[in-house]
Amino acid sequence: MDKIIVLIGAPGAGKGTQARLLDERRGIPQISTGDMFREMKTQDSPLAREVQEIMASGKLISDDVTYRIVRERTSKPDTAGTFVLDGYPRTAVQAEQLEELAKEQGKQIQAIEVDVPKDELMKRLTGRRSCPVCGEIYNIYSKPPKVEGRCDDHPEAELSHRADDEEEKVKVRLETYEELTKPLLNYYERSGRLKKIDGTGELEDIYVELEKLV
Ligand SMILES: [Zn+2]
Repeated sequence: MDKIIVLIGAPGAGKGTQARLLDERRGIPQISTGDMFREMKTQDSPLAREVQEIMASGKLISDDVTYRIVRERTSKPDTAGTFVLDGYPRTAVQAEQLEELAKEQGKQIQAIEVDVPKDELMKRLTGRRSCPVCGEIYNIYSKPPKVEGRCDDHPEAELSHRADDEEEKVKVRLETYEELTKPLLNYYERSGRLKKIDGTGELEDIYVELEKLV
């Protein structure tokens, strides 16, 4: 049976990277909410126009509208088989709505959590530095530049630290994520559809674990 894979992971857990690998290597499409919303801005369908109006008015996009966006996007031929949802559902309410879609499409829902301990997430996010010239990403803990604060290829440029990656902000982001996601994880756990993979360690090892569950 084809599946709808719901990939769940905190900011910095690397779920986007893993979803991309599944897409590249197994041809399993990665359907991310960010991409869907971006597509809606330029499309010309009744739903897209409705979304554009909501965005222009500065209102939040409701669960119902988000559901319809996911439904429309996943009715395309490329998602006729198994696909990965990245960034949806976010809440237990959205998860319930997704059940309908799975029924309609005759698919099984499999939730997979990419699990990374909080202190590791803190290091990944707060340690991030980037080169303003070439965009290369460093991490002061796991991938430091040869000279502190300088890009290996552009020593004249000082590495920059995004305001979003400052410790206090990262803490808030991670706490918000946890609060939102706990009910979602419980929802899938209760119905025996939650699997966990260890998101620490090497990219390739994590991918091997993920692929076994797909
Ligand atoms: Zn550089």
